[in-house]
Amino acid sequence: MIEVRENVFSEIGTDVNWFVVRDGSDLTLIDAGYPGDVARVEASIRSIGAAPEDVRAILLTHAHVDHMGAANHFHDRYGTPILMSETETAHARREYLQQASELDVAKNAWRPGVLAWSLRVMRAGATQKIAIPHAEAFPTVGALDLPGAPTPVPTTGHTTGHTAYFLPAAGAVVTGDTLVNGHPLLRHAGPQLLPPMFNHSETDTVAALDQLEGLDADLLLPGHGHPYTGSIREAVAKARDATQGRRKSR
Ligand SMILES: [Zn+2]
Repeated sequence: MIEVRENVFSEIGTDVNWFVVRDGSDLTLIDAGYPGDVARVEASIRSIGAAPEDVRAILLTHAHVDHMGAANHFHDRYGTPILMSETETAHARREYLQQASELDVAKNAWRPGVLAWSLRVMRAGATQKIAIPHAEAFPTVGALDLPGAPTPVPTTGHTTGHTAYFLPAAGAVVTGDTLVNGHPLLRHAGPQLLPPMFNHSETDTVAALDQLEGLDADLLLPGHGHPYTGSIREAVAKARDATQGRRKSR
């Protein structure tokens, strides 16, 4: 696990990232990999001299299988609360599903990289039908009483209840899948949106960039791709440009 900023750690699992924020011996875990990443999530926590029991809460950016994989394990084994926006709790319980279907992926299988990627993520549990029955909404409005004082930033679009997390002391923002810095199915690295098939609402995802651009952050911690250092305003501008380019090339 890389310490990307003091007490903020980043780990890459199966083509997806999670983050740990430390305050003394207490941790916040933001996102939780694929179901097949459970051992890697635990190992990443142990690699900084901490224990899975030190996680005070798991924050989910959204309830896609590649971000929620280890959540039930932590809840069942250590009693870890799993927090997200009120809207996303219903998604986590699978009262509905806003995720690219296997058919969506199959229709894109001719694109470079799609086949290798889909085999890799299938091994990590991409097609497992999991739900989080005990998903909880944030207990308070504004900054959370957790290590790093993460502040939820509503960013509806990729999923309706998607949330980014601003980490004020670190000057960083965990952007989840609203703004990524690369993905095996994207041609280039750099701040941009995920391919359209992954976004429940492409229009709303673009609009959600407005929520990010004013944050006092110069470190972007995306759900996919490497952390990006640079002003969030600049990252958002790049993502908007990339989206424009994508529309023209269609
Ligand atoms: Zn997602």
